[in-house]
Amino acid sequence: MSNNYPKTLQLHIDGEWIDVGDREIHHVVNPATGKTISDLPKATTADLDRALDAAAKAFPKWRDTPVGERAAVLHKAADLMRERAADIGELMTAEQGKPLPQAIGEVTASASQFDIMAEEAKRCYGRVLVRPTGQNSFVKYQPVGPVAAFSPWNFPVFTPIRKLAPAIAAGCSIILKPAEETPASAIEMMRCLQDAGLPSGVCQIVFGDPSEVSSHLIASDVIRKVSFTGSVPVGKHLMKLAADGMKRTTMELGGHAPVLVFDDCDMEKTLDLVVTGKFRNAGQVCVSPTRFYVQSGIYEKFEKAFTERAIKISVGDGFGGVDMGPLANPRRPEAVGAMVADAKSKGAEVRLGGGGQSDNGFFFDPTVLSHVPLDAKIMNDEPFGPVAVMRPFDTLDEAIEQANRLPLGLAAYAFTENLRTANLVGDAIEAGMVAINNLTVSPGDAPFGGVKESGHGSEDGPDGLKAYMVTKAIHQA
Ligand code: NAD
Repeated sequence: MSNNYPKTLQLHIDGEWIDVGDREIHHVVNPATGKTISDLPKATTADLDRALDAAAKAFPKWRDTPVGERAAVLHKAADLMRERAADIGELMTAEQGKPLPQAIGEVTASASQFDIMAEEAKRCYGRVLVRPTGQNSFVKYQPVGPVAAFSPWNFPVFTPIRKLAPAIAAGCSIILKPAEETPASAIEMMRCLQDAGLPSGVCQIVFGDPSEVSSHLIASDVIRKVSFTGSVPVGKHLMKLAADGMKRTTMELGGHAPVLVFDDCDMEKTLDLVVTGKFRNAGQVCVSPTRFYVQSGIYEKFEKAFTERAIKISVGDGFGGVDMGPLANPRRPEAVGAMVADAKSKGAEVRLGGGGQSDNGFFFDPTVLSHVPLDAKIMNDEPFGPVAVMRPFDTLDEAIEQANRLPLGLAAYAFTENLRTANLVGDAIEAGMVAINNLTVSPGDAPFGGVKESGHGSEDGPDGLKAYMVTKAIHQA
């Protein structure tokens, strides 16, 4: 593993890096070994109040900074991220477990988010409504104000950047609480922003007890917008807190992505994509392809070929050149193992894996479950782990009904060479993103977000920028 992981970490408030001092500590653990690698300070109430104060003071100045200057800071931060991608990637692998190339790839993809939002902000055009009477109406977009954002541990840099980049580009100030499990890579992202010239107070990074931090920040009059990525229950809780102050929210919550595999698909191409996609980041991805509904004519052939490929996925420490690392924390193998056991007890057939890999670290085998009954927990709750669940279907209508049967709707996938099927599926699936004959639902410049209990509001692209702006109409005689 990397020796570069700092022994102690810091908060970042009003341009200042703040050490542990006499603050409470969260131990950061390497999920490949289960060992503590660093100490992270938890913000005190005074720290949070200082962060709120700094965000309140910085907001009007940053809002009034010309968009070209804001964009230049973001472009410079993007360049620094790319320069430092190898180092930041090492920190990410040490704290999160994903294979090093995936970690480095996440950092460079994140840098592009800074670039994209820098350019989107320049093109955030308003409208002029020219009245026959000579009275004009102007529609303008203005930054919403200071933001509180909360991001999880599965993508320690990409998820925070989805919130930071549009907020900063729009002219907002922001307080970000990344996941306590994966702090160092997010801290280094902050350092890129600071080194790129972001003024003090525009962005603060705090850690602590998630519930205490979120309730304190969201209750403050300073905060005008809340953005969260994580689980459905926590998202609902934060929305209730935000409702008290009528604060805007963006909620990117769980998914349980259906994959409809029709018997006219290009089987080899489909398998190449979905096997790699399923086990990327050990399946801890909100858009991970998970519920495989495969048309009866090819079910057995597909399931067998999928399993033959999945068996070759190498598992181990993310620094060891493997395909798949450990799960990110001890909660995951426990939760995934319980779901697999429940499915087996209800009649699912285990084609591959089904258990943990070692006593050290939080590993779980690549797992394939076949003929999984609909009442199994894993067919209803997101496994968030390296498990593919499969069921056969006969007709297009049945496939769509199965895809839509859950209260979730983030990503969905379909594989077919029939254009009519592709068009029908694209329209009929209840999901924020549908990818047909590919798995790309997060290109960075297109809206990313869910429907139903998967949340609301889009991230990325022009829609992601507007999420940090309010619309104002000015009627001038
Ligand atoms: P969790 O629900 O406790 O936490 C999810 C995330 O929310 C974590 O990052 C956590 O720090 C944060 N969080 C928890 N309570 C919070 C609060 N009161 N205020 C602010 N932030 C809070 O669960 P977990 O064990 O970390 O993950 C379990 C499930 O969460 C997964 O199975 C998955 O379904 C979901 N999840 C989704 C995503 C995603 O990308 N949408 C990411 C991580 C986890």
